[in-house]
Amino acid sequence: MIRALLLCLVLAAVIGCAGEPASPRREGPRGLMDRPIADVALPDPSTDPVLSALEASDEVWFLDKLFQPWNVFPTTPPDETPQRWRGVPTMPVSGPGFLARIADLTGPGARQEGLELEAPMKPGAVAPGEVLVDPTGVHLATPSRQAKPPAFRPCYPTSASALSERLGVIATLPGDRHPSRHETFDGEARRAVRTMAGSALSWDLEPADARRPLEFGFARDRWSLRTVAQPAGVPMLEVNEQSNAALHFAIAWSAEGRPRQTLWETTLTAEQADAVHEARIPMLPDHANGARLTFEVRATETGSSGAGRAYWLDPALAARPTKRPRPNVLLVVLDTLRADRLGCYGYERATSPRIDAIAREGVLFERAWSAAPWTLPSHASLFSSLHAVEHGVFDASVRLPEEAETIAEVLFNAGYDTAAFTEAGYVRPELGLAQGFQRFRCALAEVDQTFDGAADWIEARERPFFAFVHTYKVHTPYDPEGPARELLVRPYDGPLPKDARVGDVPPAHKPHDYSAEDARYLSDLYDAEIRELDDAFGDFMDRLRRSGALENTLVIITADHGEEFAEHGQFNHSNSLYEEQLRVPLILLPPSPGAFASLSGDVPAMAVDIAPTIAQVADAPVPPGWSGRSLLEPRGGSDEDPSRWVLYRPSGSQEMTYALERRGVKLLWYPEDLRPEDTNPSTTMFRLESDPGEQAGVSSLEWTLEGTAEALKALRQAHPRRWQGSGASSSPELRAQLAELGYASGND
Ligand SMILES: [Zn+2]
Repeated sequence: MIRALLLCLVLAAVIGCAGEPASPRREGPRGLMDRPIADVALPDPSTDPVLSALEASDEVWFLDKLFQPWNVFPTTPPDETPQRWRGVPTMPVSGPGFLARIADLTGPGARQEGLELEAPMKPGAVAPGEVLVDPTGVHLATPSRQAKPPAFRPCYPTSASALSERLGVIATLPGDRHPSRHETFDGEARRAVRTMAGSALSWDLEPADARRPLEFGFARDRWSLRTVAQPAGVPMLEVNEQSNAALHFAIAWSAEGRPRQTLWETTLTAEQADAVHEARIPMLPDHANGARLTFEVRATETGSSGAGRAYWLDPALAARPTKRPRPNVLLVVLDTLRADRLGCYGYERATSPRIDAIAREGVLFERAWSAAPWTLPSHASLFSSLHAVEHGVFDASVRLPEEAETIAEVLFNAGYDTAAFTEAGYVRPELGLAQGFQRFRCALAEVDQTFDGAADWIEARERPFFAFVHTYKVHTPYDPEGPARELLVRPYDGPLPKDARVGDVPPAHKPHDYSAEDARYLSDLYDAEIRELDDAFGDFMDRLRRSGALENTLVIITADHGEEFAEHGQFNHSNSLYEEQLRVPLILLPPSPGAFASLSGDVPAMAVDIAPTIAQVADAPVPPGWSGRSLLEPRGGSDEDPSRWVLYRPSGSQEMTYALERRGVKLLWYPEDLRPEDTNPSTTMFRLESDPGEQAGVSSLEWTLEGTAEALKALRQAHPRRWQGSGASSSPELRAQLAELGYASGND
C-alpha cells in the first residue's frame, strides 16, 4: 500500500512539474531540500515486521502512549456535571468515531483497570483534533475535580500513511522539494527530512556544484515503531520511545564511470539522541556531468524500524564568495507597537529616548502602514512581499504556502546565513513563516532573552547574515514594573488591576463598558511597556555596536500592527484599519553612513515594500511575483492612485474590509457586521493631515464613491489571490502557546 501511495505521489509530482520552464539553471539552489529528491530507498518490508504491517493494510490500530495528557474540561464552572476530559490524539483518527482501548488504567482514583470503552468523537473533529470523553459515562473518575485523570493509553484506528508520515517511515518522496517540515531541537526549529534506519535518499548535483563545501546537520531520537498484539486481520503498532540502537549516518557520492565514495560517516548512540550535530564536507569531488549524493542511515543492529528515527537537517552547499562583501541585514519587528507612541513620531511622553536616538541616524518613514491589523497576515506579507488579499493567510487555519518566495529564501540563496528569533504565538514554522530560515527559534521568552539569543548568533557569524528578531514585549499582558511604571503610569482609582492581563483588555469586536479613565490607564500601562522595550532594544543595539556587528549592516525597525485604546470605541487590535492599528514605525539604518542620504521618509510605505528594499540593498534578485517596491526607488509622487492600501478579511466576516489613501485622504470601508459603532455610513473618509486621529469624517470630493469602487476593482484585479490555501497543522503545543498569549480562538 505504501508503495502504491509512493507511486501516486511520484506521478503527481511529475505532472505538477510539467508546467515549469525546461531550461536548466546554471546553478541550483543552495539548499538541497529546495531541489527535487532523486531517489528514496526504503528498508525491505520482508525483513521488517512494521513495514510489512503497514504495507498489508490501509488501516492500522495505533496504541498511543503519546496521547496528549488529558485536561479537565471545562476548567472553571464549579459544579457542572458530567465532567469532561479533553485529549488530543497524536495521529489522525480515521473512521466515524473514536475508539479507545484503555490499556493501562492506573493512577489515583481509577476504579477499574484494563477497561475498554467506545467514546464518541466530537462531531466533525477529524484529528488532529480534540476528543471529548464523558468520564462518568464510562466509570472513569477522579477523587476530586482538581486531580489529574488517570493515565491511560487509547488505541484507535488510523491510516497507514498517516502513521508512516508521523513516525518517519516515509517523510519524503522522490520528486519532493520544499518539504515544509521543521523539526524542533532545543527550542530551535530546523528544516529537516525525517527518515528511518535502513533508508536512503538522494539528491542530484549539477556540474556547477562540484568542488563546493556541503554543510548539514543531523540528529536522531529514540522513537521507533514496533508491532504488538494483532487482533484479527488488523495490524496494531505502538511507539517504542526507548530505542537503544546506535544509528550509523553516511553520505556517499557517485557519478557515472567513477567509483562510489563515502564522503562522510559517523555513528550516533542513543545517548546522543535529541540534540543537533553539525557537520561539513570541505569539498565535493569534481565531476563533469553531474553526480548524486546519497544520505543513508542504518541501524548497527538488526530490525530497522525498531531502531529510531533520524533527521537530516537542511543540507546546503556553502555560498560562493562574492567580489564585494554583501551587507548584513537585521529586521526587527516590535509586535503591537503603534508609531504615534514613539517620540520620534511626535509623542510627547517619554516612551522611547533610545529608539528616538537610533532613528536620528537613519531614515524614518512617516507614513508606513502594516499589511493587516494583526500578527499572522502582517508577517506573511512582510516576508513574502504579497498583500494579505494575495497570500490569503487571514487566519491560522491557513499557512503561507511554500510557493511564496520569502525574503529569507532570497537571502539564503544569495549566500546569507539566516536565522529568526521569535516569541512564538503566530510567528512560527507551522504557519509557513520559517521558509528560508536555517534556524527558527520560536519560544515564549522575556524580551532580553530574545535579544540576547539573536545577538549571540549574530556575533558568531563569519558570513553575511539575515537576522529576523521579533518580540511581544508591548503586546498584552501589560505588566510594566519599576521605573518605567513610575514614570508613565498615572494614578488610577478604577476597577482594573495593577497589571492588565489578557482578560482585562477587551478583545477586538467585543462591546465593553470601560470608562475614559480605564482607557487612559490601559494606555499608560502600554506606554510604560514601550519604555521597557526601548531599554531592552537600546541595550541590544549598543551591544551589537560595541561588538562591531552593525558595521555594514542594514537595520530595519518596524511593527506588525498597532493597538487601540478606545479612540474608536474599542481595544486591542485585529478589528479595524484606523491609524492606531495600521500605522507602524518604519526606520531604516543604512549599512554605511550616508548611504541613504538622498532617501526621503516622506513617501508612503507599505509592509510589502520592506522585502524588496532589503533585496536591493543586499544586491539579491527580486522575485518577479513580489508586489512591493523598494523604498530606495524613486516614487511617482502623491498622484498615485491609491498610494497606500490594505485589503483584508477580518475573522468572522466573509467580506473584505479596506483602507485606501490618496493625496492625504484616507478612505475606510467596513463590512456591515463588523462596522465599529461610530462608522456610519460604511464608507468614511478622513484628511489625515488635519485630522490624524480620524475623528471628523469628511464627505470629500477627492474620492467619489464611484471612484472608490473603481479603484477597488482595479486593485482586486491587479492583485488576485495567488494560491488556494494550504492548511496549517494545529498542534496542542501551538494551541497552548496561543492561549497563553490570549489567543483563545479566532485571530488577534
Ligand atoms: Zn502582532
